[in-house]
Amino acid sequence: MSTVPINLEWLSDCSGCHVAIVDLHEKILAVLESVTIQRCPVLTDVKDYPKAKLGLVSGAIRTEHDRHAAIEMRKSCDLIIAWGSCAVYGGIAGAGNVHSRQEIIDAVYIGNKTTATHAPPTKEVSALEPSVSPLDSVIDVDLYLPGCAPHPAFVFDALLALLEGRSPRTATGESVCARCRRKMEKTEVDRIRKNSEGVPDPDRCFLSQGYLCMGSVTLDRCMSPCPLNGIPCSGCAGATMQVLAEPNRDIRTEIAERMSRLTEIPREAIVREIERTSKTHYSYTMATPMIGEKPTFLIKKWTDEERDDYEQDHNH
Ligand code: SF4
Ligand code: SF4
Ligand code: SF4
Repeated sequence: MSTVPINLEWLSDCSGCHVAIVDLHEKILAVLESVTIQRCPVLTDVKDYPKAKLGLVSGAIRTEHDRHAAIEMRKSCDLIIAWGSCAVYGGIAGAGNVHSRQEIIDAVYIGNKTTATHAPPTKEVSALEPSVSPLDSVIDVDLYLPGCAPHPAFVFDALLALLEGRSPRTATGESVCARCRRKMEKTEVDRIRKNSEGVPDPDRCFLSQGYLCMGSVTLDRCMSPCPLNGIPCSGCAGATMQVLAEPNRDIRTEIAERMSRLTEIPREAIVREIERTSKTHYSYTMATPMIGEKPTFLIKKWTDEERDDYEQDHNH
């Protein structure tokens, strides 16, 4: 039986999406029966881009090399999957967009006490682009597979769907709440709690207990492991289509609406807390124009305010 040639590439990322392939366990055998992996940074030492039917690209565009690699993948592959939240939205690296390129270089190399040279590397290191961008800002993408990393079931289904020329079956528009078994109930909780505070009730929705959980505004591409295992969702798979597509819907206002109805916590206090922690709750999608162009999106202002508060607290 002839197999389908595929290329894999990673741009600026943590390599978690590639490692997640291993989580396919024995299902990987079904995939390997159908494909020939020609290029894969964690498996092969192939530097060029052979012609392929399918290309999986993880990671964001942060450097000039990322841009070059994305363009080479597009030229060599008939179909491209943007694989993981970094490729789809810019991912956590997008948090760098609230700082200038020079601020980042200063913090990492020049002012960093652990960097002996106090100078940025100049040889064999690709230059940073001015900002972080998702993959589709540079090349056309045929299928989007967000998640940090996406659950193997979604990876498996996406690969087979593209190979079989059909739409993926598992990828629905449901939020993380859809698979969470915690119950949303009205409580008298009157303040927001830190995740490290107390022991949450395992059966009750985190929002009802005063913990910020992003499950209701986050697309399910993970099977909800965090709330099922006692940890509030931080939104790593990116926002649901309702939040992304509707200009006036936003993560903080949606959560504030829901949480203030479930508790006695004032809506404004919830909005303010999410703004204060915006680098955590928006970081996965900060680089995508879909979020960045929202009229409610003031992340630079919020993070500057948070930094001022921090400096005031620590300088006195
Ligand atoms: S999406 Fe998450 S797991 Fe995948 S490369 Fe980015 S940070 Fe790593
Ligand atoms: S908000 Fe969080 S804890 Fe509540 S139902 Fe949704 S995922 Fe579960
Ligand atoms: S539950 Fe939320 S934080 Fe956890 S993996 Fe899924 S999207 Fe990410």
